[in-house]
Amino acid sequence: MNVAVIGKGGREHAIVKMLANARSVKNIFAIPGNAGMREICEVMYRVDEDDFDAIAGICIEKQVDWVIIGDAKPLSLGLADFLTDEYGLTVFGPRKKEAQMETSKSFTKNLLKKYNIPTAEFQVFVNYDAAESYIKTAVPPYVIKKDGLTEGKGVVIIHSVEEGLDALKILGEPSKDGEMEPLIFEEYLEGEEFSLMVMVNEEYTHTFEVIAQDHKSAFGKNKGPNTGGMGAYAPVTHISEAVRQEAIEKIIEPTALAMVKEGLSYFGVLYLGAMLTDDGVKVLEYNARFGDPEAQVLLSMIDSDFASILEHVQKKQPMKIDWKEGYTVGVMLATAGYPFEYKRGIGISFTDEVMDRSFISGLAQTEEGDYISSGGRMMLVTGTGMTIKEALQAAYGCVDKIEFDKDEIFYRTDIAHRAMLTN
Ligand code: ATP
Repeated sequence: MNVAVIGKGGREHAIVKMLANARSVKNIFAIPGNAGMREICEVMYRVDEDDFDAIAGICIEKQVDWVIIGDAKPLSLGLADFLTDEYGLTVFGPRKKEAQMETSKSFTKNLLKKYNIPTAEFQVFVNYDAAESYIKTAVPPYVIKKDGLTEGKGVVIIHSVEEGLDALKILGEPSKDGEMEPLIFEEYLEGEEFSLMVMVNEEYTHTFEVIAQDHKSAFGKNKGPNTGGMGAYAPVTHISEAVRQEAIEKIIEPTALAMVKEGLSYFGVLYLGAMLTDDGVKVLEYNARFGDPEAQVLLSMIDSDFASILEHVQKKQPMKIDWKEGYTVGVMLATAGYPFEYKRGIGISFTDEVMDRSFISGLAQTEEGDYISSGGRMMLVTGTGMTIKEALQAAYGCVDKIEFDKDEIFYRTDIAHRAMLTN
């Protein structure tokens, strides 16, 4: 079969790598793809992710059987709807309506509430003054969230009235009549955070057996601003199988059924961001695609054929995914300044061996073939081992083989610190 992968990040690099190892996959087209994918597929770097007509044109011309949409933005703009409705293509990735599970937090919170699925208590405010009055009387800590896609920048944890008022000024933009885009005020949940990747086709769900943990803050010891993710590792052994089962029974399966009851026809990956609290597992958020960098770590641990996995989901057939033994750790290299202002065009060089163990996100190649940065997060370098310690040594050992200026590029040195506490 021929497959098109839409996106240009490390997550899509991981998907392309999986497909390149799948027996039944003949041709892979990455649209627009990135410099890391050149050796393993055809990279259509001139095509923009939101140029739907051009994407459809390539899919038809290249006789693509499957389209996998990796990123939330094209999903939110309705790329799945367009390719399915206008061209009859098979798309792995939800339509705009179903992608609301990620693109509208108020939509999802209301769905969870209606079906009694455990999540933080919440209120939605659409009036600036009402939100301000609430902040003046509310007892912190609590959380204020923007409704839509914000690349991780729309969530603020509030510890005082002043912080609440400041956050409202930044997140709430009232129009003349005082109305604003919805803001969600949520109960603060304490506990252990984890995520589960679920393959969903309407009521059918298959939850990955292996759990990965992301590292959101820019610097070690969870300091610094939130980022897209500075590293990940798997498996997370301090989240027990019993907890995973609880999440499946009380959250994932009821959510799939709730979506069906609401007339939603979800087909794609549903990412559950969960918190293990003293009251059990609760939903923090849903995403309508794989997490990045969790996908890079998890997909590289799968021993099964990815095309066959997709077909099982399409046909709603139960499946067993084979997972490699041991641990995988991924360390993200990012340009200084990220997630705020950062320079582009910073040089970095590494061998093919390093490339084999890396997932590229923000790197471009010069005409001479040298790699330079083209984004904030540049590449995720992975290491594997039978213990978490071995995997860590392998990952950081690989980072040490890369040549770069330490003033221009940074990485966290404490990936998997939670696992080191418990292993
Ligand atoms: P992402 O970039 O992961 O998609 P997002 O912008 O969609 O993030 P959330 O995942 O809802 O936002 O929240 C981001 C982070 O804020 C969570 O990973 C969690 O650490 C923290 N958080 C969110 N909601 C709560 C809550 N109710 N209680 C405690 N912490 C929370």
